[in-house]
Amino acid sequence: MSDTTIFDKIINKEIPADIIYEDDLALAFKDINPQAPTHFLVIPKTPIATMNDVNEENAHLVGHLYVVAAKIAAELGFADDGYRAVMNCNEHGGQTVYHIHLHVLAGKPFGWPPY
Ligand code: 5GP
Repeated sequence: MSDTTIFDKIINKEIPADIIYEDDLALAFKDINPQAPTHFLVIPKTPIATMNDVNEENAHLVGHLYVVAAKIAAELGFADDGYRAVMNCNEHGGQTVYHIHLHVLAGKPFGWPPY
């Protein structure tokens, strides 16, 4: 597993992305392969490989992803209708990019469980 991912290149603006939010700690951009009418990713600028690597020291970065997601949901107007926010972990979780990211999906009702 490489220490750097495609998301580092997006953070460093080495490759293009449709960025919808940025601050000192986080970046949000549209998913290149959307699974819902609205689908974007919120990532910490500091790389954390998987949810298994979340700890007391970096937990504020993870919390901040949710703050950013809620802010964007309010700004884009889908907060009241609702949305799905999910972080995949490792193979069984369906993780493909090893830099944690919060998927935010909106614009339609989602089923549960997520088979
Ligand atoms: P995971 O499978 O790791 O939970 O999610 C990775 C997500 O990153 C996928 O939904 C995939 O479409 C998205 N993705 C992968 N590479 C790129 C890219 O270069 N640009 C953008 N915008 N999204 C990407």
